[in-house]
Amino acid sequence: MNFQEANYWLTTVSMPSATPGDLPTRADVAIVGAGFTGLSAARTLAKRGITVTVLEANTVGSGASSRNGGMVLTGMKLDISTLASRYGIETAKRMYAASLASIDLVEQIVREENINCDFSRCGHLEVACKQSHFDSYARSAEVIAKEFNHQLRIVPRRDLPAEIGSVIYFGGMIDETSAGLTPTRYVAGLAQAALRAGATIYENARALKINRGPGGDFQIETTRGNILAGDVFIATSGYTSSTTPALQKKIIPIGSFIITTERLADSLACELSPRNRMIYDSKHYLHYYRLTPDNRMLFGGRAAFFPETKSTVQRSAEILRRGMIKVFPQLKDTKIEFAWGGTLDFCFDTMPHAGQNDGMYYALGYAGHGVAMATYLGTKIAEKIGGGSDEIPFAGIPFPGAPLRLYNGKPWFLPFAGAYYKVLDWIS
Ligand SMILES: Cc1cc2nc3c(=O)[nH]c(=O)nc-3n(C[C@H](O)[C@H](O)[C@H](O)COP(=O)(O)OP(=O)(O)OC[C@H]3O[C@@H](n4cnc5c(N)ncnc54)[C@H](O)[C@@H]3O)c2cc1C
Repeated sequence: MNFQEANYWLTTVSMPSATPGDLPTRADVAIVGAGFTGLSAARTLAKRGITVTVLEANTVGSGASSRNGGMVLTGMKLDISTLASRYGIETAKRMYAASLASIDLVEQIVREENINCDFSRCGHLEVACKQSHFDSYARSAEVIAKEFNHQLRIVPRRDLPAEIGSVIYFGGMIDETSAGLTPTRYVAGLAQAALRAGATIYENARALKINRGPGGDFQIETTRGNILAGDVFIATSGYTSSTTPALQKKIIPIGSFIITTERLADSLACELSPRNRMIYDSKHYLHYYRLTPDNRMLFGGRAAFFPETKSTVQRSAEILRRGMIKVFPQLKDTKIEFAWGGTLDFCFDTMPHAGQNDGMYYALGYAGHGVAMATYLGTKIAEKIGGGSDEIPFAGIPFPGAPLRLYNGKPWFLPFAGAYYKVLDWIS
C-alpha cells in the first residue's frame, strides 16, 4: 500500500512560532508539555497575571494533541455502571458532569479566542458490534437519563441507514452533545491564546531533572538550560518519561493509529456518514472514525499496541485499511493517503487523574478521551495553582500503580494485554 507516513492534520495549519531566545531564569509556574493540558493551563495562568513558562521537548502540539481523531466526547473511557460501582453514584455524577462541562469549556475557549478549528456539535454515534452490546445501550441510556439528567438516543438497526452507510452493526446510540474539531488548529489556537495572554513557550526544551531547591523553588534542568519555578505542572500524558519516575510508573503508554483516505465525492461522504457524526464501535479493541472537513474518511484504532514507530505505523495502516473496508466496502478502491500514530496515556484504573505528586501538579490518564478532558483538567489545575478552590472530581480518587509493582515504566505486558482484550471482544 502506498501512502505518506505523516499526520494529515498537520497539513491543515501552521503552528505558531514559540518564544525565541533563552529560557527566563525564573517563572511562577513552569509547565512541562505543550499539548491541550499544558497550553490550556498556560492560558488560564497567564490571564491571571501569573508568569508562566511552557517547556516542550519537541514542538508545540507534537504529542497526542495534534495526532488525535478530533472527537470531543461526553463521558469517560469507563462506562457509567463501572464508575458508579467503583466510586459511588454521587462521585460518578460529578465526573459525568465534568465531562459535559469539559465540552462546554472547549466551545467557550474556541469562541473567546476566536479559534478557527471547525468546532461543531455534530454529536457522536456509538455502534454495536453484537446484539448483546446493543441490548446494553438501552440500560445505559436509562441510567444516564435518570441519574445524570442527560439524554441519549437509541437507534435500532432498521434506522441505522440514516446515520451510517454500513450494514455490519446491530444498532447504535447517539449523544448529540459531543462535538468534532480539527485538533491541530485547536492546539495551535490554544498556543496562540496562551502567548497572547503573556505565557512563554519554549520548544526543544526537554525537562531532564526536576528537584526542589534550597529556597523552596523547583530547579528544572532542560536541554536548553535551567529554570527555577515556584510551581511545576506536569502535562506530559502518554509521553511521560523518567524525568518524573513516580508518574511514569503509573502511566501505560499505548499506541493508537489513524489512516485517512483521499478526498471523497460529496455523494459518497454523505452515504457513509449522512450526519457527519463522530463514530466509534462497541469493542475493547475499538475502531473510531469520522469525515474530515475536506471529506476524507479518517479511520483509527489500536491496531498495534506499542507506540508509534515506522514499523508500527506501517503495520497498523494495513490492519486499519482492512478494518475500514469491513465497515465500508464502498471504500475498497479508495486510496489511503496518510497514516500516523500517537501515544495514549492509560492509568491502571483507566481513569483520568489530577493532583499533586512530589509537590508537582499533574493531570493525565485520559485513555483516548482527552480532547475535552485535557482542556478541562489543564484549566482546573491552573485555577487551583492560582488559588481557586473548585473541587476536581478526579483529584480525590485513589491513583493505583501496577499490581505487585511489576512495572518500571516500560510496558512489557502490552502484547498480553492486547491478546486479553481480543479474547474479551470475542467472548463478550
Ligand atoms: C491517535 C490518537 C487518537 C486520539 N483520538 C482522540 C479523540 O478522537 N478524542 C479524544 O478525546 N481524545 C483522543 N485522543 C487522546 C488525546 O489526543 C489526548 O488525551 C490529549 O491530546 C492529551 O493531551 P496532553 O496535552 O495531556 O498530552 P500531549 O498532547 O501528548 O502532550 C504532551 C507533551 O509533553 C511533551 N513532553 C513529554 N515529556 C517532556 C519533557 N520531559 N519535557 C518537555 N516536554 C515533554 C511531549 O513532547 C508532548 O508534546 C487520541 C490520542 C491519539 C494518540
